[in-house]
Formats: sequence, structure tokens, C-alpha cells
Amino acid sequence: MDPNCAICDGPPKNRCDCEFRTLVHAVEESEQRVLEPMYDEIRTWVTTQARAAIHRDFRAREARRKTAYERWLLDYGARAPRWQREEMAFSLQRAISEDWKAAVERYPEVLDYYYGEVKWSTRSGGEERRPGGGGGGGGSSRTSRRREVWQG
Ligand SMILES: [Zn+2]
Repeated sequence: MDPNCAICDGPPKNRCDCEFRTLVHAVEESEQRVLEPMYDEIRTWVTTQARAAIHRDFRAREARRKTAYERWLLDYGARAPRWQREEMAFSLQRAISEDWKAAVERYPEVLDYYYGEVKWSTRSGGEERRPGGGGGGGGSSRTSRRREVWQG
């Protein structure tokens, strides 16, 4: 024997959609409670990783350019005319600025990469991996992160 509707108390033969509407509403509220903090946590992690990767890559390029410049100064700087030394210094500054511009333009691609690194798993899946460190006070459960493999 089917029960009356839990919401409107109508008899089963009415076939109202109260249960369905209640479920939809509950899903939306549950997502707000559970998923939104996860989205925030994921965004924080992805943003931090992307920024660190971009800066790391840029600093490596900067160091290579500076090394090459200093090499040139050592080898030719003493003999080079002043205009040429100034030109070399100017070129270094310009190249570093261009590198930085190119680095910042890669944010969309690098963000996509790190968002792609976020994996979802269910507790019953047997493969749940927790983020390392345990930070986040219990809310940081169902996202896990693959090892970082991105490089310039
Ligand atoms: Zn009903």
C-alpha cells in the first residue's frame, strides 16, 4: 500500500510532483552547503599552483637571460663601446618584459591544466585520496590532486 504524499498529504492516486520538487530543492541546498566550499578550496589551490608555476617559469627565463648578459659583459663589456653596452642592457630589459608578458598570457592555459588536475572521487569508490597536509579543518575531503607535472 502506497503512502499518502509526505508534503500535501494527497492520496497516492493523485500522483503529485511534491516529492520531486522537494528533492530538487534539497539538492540545490545541499550543493550550496557542500559543493560551494569545495569550489572555493579548489579555486584557491588552482590559483596558487598556477601563479607559482607562471612565476617559477618566468624567473628561470629571467635568470638565463641575466646569465647570458653577464657572460657578454665579462667577455666583451670592457672592449665594447658605451652605446653597445647600453643597447645590451636595454635589450635585456626588453626581453625580460616580453617574457613576463608571455608568461601572464599563459594563465588561461595553466589554469586549465590545474583545474584538470583536480579529481573527484566518492567515498565508496575505494580510491579516495585526501589532499596532503590536512589543512582546511575537515571540509577538504573529496578533492584530491595528482602530482604536479606541469613545467614550462
Ligand atoms: Zn503532494
